[in-house]
Amino acid sequence: MIPANFDYIAAKSLDEALSLLAKHKDDAKLLAGGHSLLPAMKLRLAQPRVLIDIGRIKDLSYIREDGGQIKIGATTTHFQIETSDVLRRACPLLPETATHLGDMQVRNKGTIGGSLAHSDPAADWPAAIIALSAEMVVAGAKGERVIKADDFFVDLLTTALQPNEVLKEIRFATPKGRVGQAYMKVRHPASGFAVVGVAVNLSLDTAGKCQSAGVGITGVAPKAYRAKGVESALKGNALDAKTLSAAAGHAADGVTDAITELFATGEYRKHLAQVYTRRALETAASRAK
Ligand SMILES: Cc1cc2nc3c(=O)[nH]c(=O)nc-3n(C[C@H](O)[C@H](O)[C@H](O)COP(=O)(O)OP(=O)(O)OC[C@H]3O[C@@H](n4cnc5c(N)ncnc54)[C@H](O)[C@@H]3O)c2cc1C
Repeated sequence: MIPANFDYIAAKSLDEALSLLAKHKDDAKLLAGGHSLLPAMKLRLAQPRVLIDIGRIKDLSYIREDGGQIKIGATTTHFQIETSDVLRRACPLLPETATHLGDMQVRNKGTIGGSLAHSDPAADWPAAIIALSAEMVVAGAKGERVIKADDFFVDLLTTALQPNEVLKEIRFATPKGRVGQAYMKVRHPASGFAVVGVAVNLSLDTAGKCQSAGVGITGVAPKAYRAKGVESALKGNALDAKTLSAAAGHAADGVTDAITELFATGEYRKHLAQVYTRRALETAASRAK
């Protein structure tokens, strides 16, 4: 398939990208790694007249720890996250999630910002970003604003980003203390996307009880969600097998719009969510030091 004709402009800075968005308005689309946008253009599901490439803006690609937070630039690739020493030490959930994403080519070109902005219901990053209670720093014509992960994913392929905005950075508090994290996924055998993906971020207090719990689930519903029932069943409790299993039973609480398609019904996805939440919780709990 061949996309409709378009103009291509490589922005040299975030400011230039914002001016180009303001100038071309609805005719324009941002291009990061192109691994979601270009397939959509080839299928003519998207037909932007102008592509503004932000993938070459060096200032948008970084992973750093700063003032008790981890900050990741939006055009940081999946591979950079997978191989980051900072993240492997301070937040192994993200490198682990990256290993589940597509194949080597996808991980080399695709970006975390592109994936989050695209908000595919089967994408892996949204689950991890919710589990970490991350914030999205968004730049627009009037300056910057911050959107919490829980408010960022609005619906299928829809986020809280406005058309004239650029997702600039993903940031979250550096996990501290006795932390245990895990990402588990059922891969779709054809696409590799998540039939179900569960990200867990736990911390334990000095007595070994659950101090905080973040659980994000992707693949089940039109958008990734926080499994609040699981989190509240964990908090304050010792993480024994019975508690973990009972908590996991809440993985699909409140999901009334589970995705049904040829490969997996909504009921099957909800069941998988419970099973994989239990496995992810067990793994995360065993990793909490
Ligand atoms: C074969 C294949 C297998 C894949 N498997 C998986 C998988 O297993 N799991 C998974 O999660 N993903 C998978 N993907 C998707 C992949 O992760 C993409 O890289 C990702 O979804 C989009 O990132 P991108 O940088 O390529 O964004 P693009 O395709 O460049 O952009 C996607 C959308 O986001 C917008 N956008 C991009 N960056 C920004 C920004 N900073 N601010 C605002 N808007 C922005 C664009 O305008 C566009 O609408 C797969 C893709 C392919 C082709």
